[in-house]
Amino acid sequence: MNTEAIVIRIKTPTGDMDSSVDCPSLLNFNDLLVAIRDVMPEATVTAFECFLAASWQLKASAPSTDFLHSCVALVVIVMLEDPSSTHYPSSVFREGDSRPRYCNTMNEQRMNGLLPDPLQIFPRAGKTPGIRNIHGLKVNTRPNPANDCSHAVPDSIANNSLKKSSAELKRILTNGQINAQDIHYQEQLGHGNGGTVYKAYHVHGKRVLAVKVIPLDITVELQKQIMSELEILYKCDSPYIITFFSAFFVENRISICTEFMDGGSLDVYKRIPEHVLGRIAVAVVKGLTYLWSLKILHRDVKPSNMLVNTRGRVKLCDFGVSTQLVNSIAKTYVGTNAYMAPERISGEQYGIHADVWSAGISFMELALGMFPYPQIQKNQGSLMPLQLLQCIVDEDPPVLPVSQFSEKFVHFITQCMRRNPKERPAPNNLMDHPFIVQYNDGNAEVVSMWVCRCLEERRAQLAQGRM
Ligand code: ATP
Ligand code: MG
Repeated sequence: MNTEAIVIRIKTPTGDMDSSVDCPSLLNFNDLLVAIRDVMPEATVTAFECFLAASWQLKASAPSTDFLHSCVALVVIVMLEDPSSTHYPSSVFREGDSRPRYCNTMNEQRMNGLLPDPLQIFPRAGKTPGIRNIHGLKVNTRPNPANDCSHAVPDSIANNSLKKSSAELKRILTNGQINAQDIHYQEQLGHGNGGTVYKAYHVHGKRVLAVKVIPLDITVELQKQIMSELEILYKCDSPYIITFFSAFFVENRISICTEFMDGGSLDVYKRIPEHVLGRIAVAVVKGLTYLWSLKILHRDVKPSNMLVNTRGRVKLCDFGVSTQLVNSIAKTYVGTNAYMAPERISGEQYGIHADVWSAGISFMELALGMFPYPQIQKNQGSLMPLQLLQCIVDEDPPVLPVSQFSEKFVHFITQCMRRNPKERPAPNNLMDHPFIVQYNDGNAEVVSMWVCRCLEERRAQLAQGRM
């Protein structure tokens, strides 16, 4: 046997069967299922438990390592199967331990001329998801999750039985699911209040994703509540809203997988010319109108939550569908958002009109290339001490200089930023505003060309900096 291979001991009803796998640091859920099917070709195995011997105490230092993917695979599968299992590997992740212990131990054993301990796995046929899926983990089997408006747990798994064909099983395993172990993290895209966003590659779906990872020290009950509150994201289907693929908890982190936008967020662009911003505003208004039609308030409209791509698409992200998630993050990150409407800053009740204000102040910042209240210095992020934002409540809202912008644009922003929420345009009036009507021509080319040019300039500047 190849000394780099590791032994997988499969505990079958008729006795132990060994299988070997090369390159253990890349071991994932599918590798293990393939190994099971090698020795049990007739059985329908959709899950397995594993028993981790000392040398299999896994721990990775960062979510970007392949190593972690294999750990996650094991944990997820065990959770899917049976929470009360005696084989639940609660020692897989140890708080504060950042060494890749699995590799160290394996290498030590090899250096001493020993074969590493086999990984013992216990194949299982699936139970009904009601019993099995206590963490509300989502498995999406549709080839194009963008079109998937159904509940996240597919019927094919919900109706699981011992009779399921292996072809069906293969389809479930390979068809566009997003499981933690299938995500290969690439670079970090940014860091916001509470979360870090990574560009990542989804191996089975063969697509690039943006994965927001938020550490949350909360109970399993709250995790379940968040997962159920996020269900509505599967139903969101609008070209102006970022496509949501999946969300899952691994230990004390939630990962939210969405469509990747190669132009990033608007906060990093400097001044945006009015004819480009007009098309962006149309998309933002359409995105908000869509959310409002689903009775969802965005609650966090700001340039960093408006994403663009090189095809000229503009999409909203990070809207507050999960109260529990918003509350859990807010417990760690204290501050008030500088894009909040005056009524929110002063703690009054608010509604759709608060989103309208936030859109207005965002467009104004993007048009001017600076935050419209010069006395408010936003250094990093948008959260500020409440006292510093008092001027938004007390002062007359700023107005765009008429000498630099069209009358329609100035009027549009002024309407959106009326201090009295009732005087701001309602959804229908927003779409009917002459500024929006003027740029509602479906011309994505304008935004596309502008995004490409800005990205090109950024690349050139980076290259110059390196020389
Ligand atoms: P907040 O946490 O308050 O929303 P934020 O929007 O600045 O603040 P994040 O949401 O964590 O922070 O996002 C960080 C950065 O990651 C964004 O500014 C954006 O540049 C990038 N980003 C987020 N989502 C995507 C995506 N789907 N595609 C490409 N880049 C993204
Ligand atoms: Mg954001």
